[in-house]
Amino acid sequence: MNAEIIAVGSELLLGQIANTNAKFISSQLSELGINVFYHTVVGDNRDRLVEVIKLAESRADLIIFSGGLGPTKDDLTKETIAAHLGVELTSDADAMILIEDFFARHKRPMTDNNRKQALVLDGCEVLANRHGMAPGMLFEQEERIYILLPGPPKELNPMFQFEAKPKLAARLTDGAVIVSHVLRFYGIGEAELEERVQAILDTQTNPTVAPLASDGEVMLRITAKAQDEDEAWRLIGEKKAEILAIVGEYQYGVDDDSLASKMVEMLLDNGLTIAAAESLTAGLFQSELAEIPGASGTLVGGVVTYAEQTKIEQLGISEQLLTEFGVVSSECAAAMAFNVREKFGTHIGIGLTGAAGPEAHDNQPPGTIWVALSIGQEEPVTYRLQLSSARNTNRLRAVKFTYSFLMRKLVQKGYKKR
Ligand code: ATP
Repeated sequence: MNAEIIAVGSELLLGQIANTNAKFISSQLSELGINVFYHTVVGDNRDRLVEVIKLAESRADLIIFSGGLGPTKDDLTKETIAAHLGVELTSDADAMILIEDFFARHKRPMTDNNRKQALVLDGCEVLANRHGMAPGMLFEQEERIYILLPGPPKELNPMFQFEAKPKLAARLTDGAVIVSHVLRFYGIGEAELEERVQAILDTQTNPTVAPLASDGEVMLRITAKAQDEDEAWRLIGEKKAEILAIVGEYQYGVDDDSLASKMVEMLLDNGLTIAAAESLTAGLFQSELAEIPGASGTLVGGVVTYAEQTKIEQLGISEQLLTEFGVVSSECAAAMAFNVREKFGTHIGIGLTGAAGPEAHDNQPPGTIWVALSIGQEEPVTYRLQLSSARNTNRLRAVKFTYSFLMRKLVQKGYKKR
């Protein structure tokens, strides 16, 4: 099945918003193995919408529309599609119940305009909107599927994921189920990972194995098709074991795990507390930790010591150390980690200092970053990263590296990791 996504909305063409709906839908379709060959954007204009629908019909068998389902005049997607396909719009009882429900939940009066939203393409399957009013639609004509989704991402995303996607999956698999499982790796590049599992990639059939990469991490998505979920998970389990026998040392998690969530989990499991002293990351390490539910059970606090003087005043780092070794140094990072751990009375202290870029800093080339871990009373351990001159990428990578560095060190020391 080949798909085209048509995003309707003049604000997209005016540059007021980015087409994140197309990105979301594309990534969801790739999980189903559906190819997306085109993303189209068109303004709120009937004639131009018809033009792009005709073009899409010439090259796709699944056409997904985002936006223009609302009650206002410029929301013309469903009217235009109905006229183009020669289908009536009829008021749908299910859609009306959902709309009445929405108004009851939000204690707002319903107007005629809103009633118009229950009009759907005659013969379509209604896709429930649990976060707004406009119902979505799945309509089939001449072997082609048309899916209409509302514009706001908080409505579109769950509608696609929980209403449209299962219906598409059922059509693709003749009743079989498709299950996907993502293995997450850190500390190995995309090219190296692919090379090491090349034999598996070359011979894949069911399950399929697809490499993905983002923000310094690499993932392998294993997708199995089977008659039931148990069988799909059995197939995934076998393939996972094969992969981990080759590159298991780099795997840190699965599915929605992140390095931060795995580190929080490990610290909580082992009853360890943590504090951080951050220079180039200016709080990013702590902020990312705080995004993880339960972080308060381990993150005690920290300091942002950006300027040299603040490192002296807030952390008691000696002027002599800074003069002798500089702020971008193993010695400075180690002192930051040790002193912040003492200051906050935690089991672990983190020190992050470096030249974020794009310029050199303290005579160090951009991307030179020192990460230090102070665990208990032991001498801190440090690690030098040499990254690029891309400032914010460096800051993010430094934080990610620190999570993985700490987990590795704790495993070496015998702490348990799930
Ligand atoms: P509503 O009932 O809110 O009018 P609608 O289905 O008519 O919904 P639009 O009016 O086209 O949708 O868009 C509503 C809002 O949804 C836009 O202002 C924008 O914030 C967001 N939106 C629309 N299209 C996209 C898109 N392609 N990507 C990301 N956000 C979008």
